[in-house]
Amino acid sequence: MTTVWWVRRDARLADNPALLAAQEDGPAAAVFVWNRGVHLWSGRRRAHLARVLWSLKEDIGGALGVRRGEAADAVLAIAREHDARVVVAAREGSPAGIGAQDAVASALAADGRELRLVGTPYAVAPGRVRKSDGSEYRVFTPFSHAWREHGWPSPAAHADPEAFVPVESDVDLDERAAHADAEDPLTARHEFREERVREAWEGYVDGPLARYAEERDRPDLDSTSHLSVPLAYGQIHPRTVLAATAAMPGEGPRKLEAELAWRDFHADVLFRHPRAQRESLTTVLPDDSWTTGRDADQAFMAWRDGRTGFPLVDAGMRELAATGTMHNRVRMVVASFLVKDLHLPWQRGADHFRRALLDYDHAQNQLNWQWVAGTGRDAAPFFRIFNPAAQASRYDPERRYIERWVAEVDTPAYPAPMVDHAAERAAALADHKRARAGAGG
Ligand SMILES: Cc1cc2nc3c(=O)[nH]c(=O)nc-3n(C[C@H](O)[C@H](O)[C@H](O)COP(=O)(O)OP(=O)(O)OC[C@H]3O[C@@H](n4cnc5c(N)ncnc54)[C@H](O)[C@@H]3O)c2cc1C
Repeated sequence: MTTVWWVRRDARLADNPALLAAQEDGPAAAVFVWNRGVHLWSGRRRAHLARVLWSLKEDIGGALGVRRGEAADAVLAIAREHDARVVVAAREGSPAGIGAQDAVASALAADGRELRLVGTPYAVAPGRVRKSDGSEYRVFTPFSHAWREHGWPSPAAHADPEAFVPVESDVDLDERAAHADAEDPLTARHEFREERVREAWEGYVDGPLARYAEERDRPDLDSTSHLSVPLAYGQIHPRTVLAATAAMPGEGPRKLEAELAWRDFHADVLFRHPRAQRESLTTVLPDDSWTTGRDADQAFMAWRDGRTGFPLVDAGMRELAATGTMHNRVRMVVASFLVKDLHLPWQRGADHFRRALLDYDHAQNQLNWQWVAGTGRDAAPFFRIFNPAAQASRYDPERRYIERWVAEVDTPAYPAPMVDHAAERAAALADHKRARAGAGG
């Protein structure tokens, strides 16, 4: 009997429990639903998705079906076409992901069929790490200890690339992937084939990982893993990454594991507090602290376009525009600048990142913005305000990163700083003090 594999953020054959479950009783029918949400993605992200799916389709002998429409309709249609009683998929924990899986489950149930959720895109499923009384960890460090203690299974076996039945598509991936090449020329860093992603990761384990702990904060060096893009599309599972790091001694592997714990922590927070996708979890500023109207729009545009006159901020925003990614240290600096120097709400920056990032991940983006803004669970305290000049001298000491992205930095063509950092810092701290006084703290 055929089982349907509903492909979500898990376009891979390796270490994929949902796919293995779908192949248990024979060949599976694989479908990805190109829904309205995907149409709202940035062109760059859609282009990458087209390549990722194109590659998966090639890996399974052309059997993948890619269907337009909403998940509930499209998955039900495939189940009926293939006379499948069961659909298997990985479980999502974000509000949109939960909404989609609930809708698919209801549509299937109404037709006498079943959605079976197997595995998640995380080492430990959101909601699983709990204190002994069952409540959530609000602070990252104890969460990360309990997360390690909870543990995760070894990577699952590789799925059979031949055990698939062909599924009809109404989205032409060849055309979309070709169009993607024209729109957004491929860089080696944004590898989209599952096998090459794994090879790149293995190369990283044999190379820069040993230096990760010392160099990860340096945007001028290329020492981070670049895993965020394949993790966002599911071409590698964090368990596969953790199995490799566990076998290695040293600070680098431990630090990378801690970063994956942050990934699970943010997913856990969003799962438990769905409102965190738009609302601050803690109020740190009075409502009248924000810049508004035309001033706000002009400030936002200068930030977005990388012409604030603060070289590290501008380098980051230009890197984002050019590549769809940005170094983590620089993400923190540009985010702090938007919220604490320009006094714009974190949601506005997060929306821009959603449009621009290739590695966009709803939980990671929204909760990292809340971390920088001081409004999240275990966030940086609001009074920790990044000084862009000091951050630049510390983390880009020879200005190699800045000069790579802001070639005109030392010429008259480069704008003067748009604000006085010391004055804006003082204003932000005064606003924060008012909020605390208002809250009685
Ligand atoms: C304002 C802001 C927005 C962000 N938006 C996203 C986003 O949309 N998608 C995304 O994947 N990451 C996001 N991050 C986290 C982080 O910047 C990226 O994961 C990282 O820069 C990706 O590069 P890398 O894979 O080489 O990271 P590495 O340093 O090699 O880290 C390895 C992996 O650990 C995880 N990780 C690292 N740092 C963090 C972190 N701070 N929070 C959660 N997980 C982390 C990622 O999965 C990453 O791929 C954001 C950070 C900030 C400050």
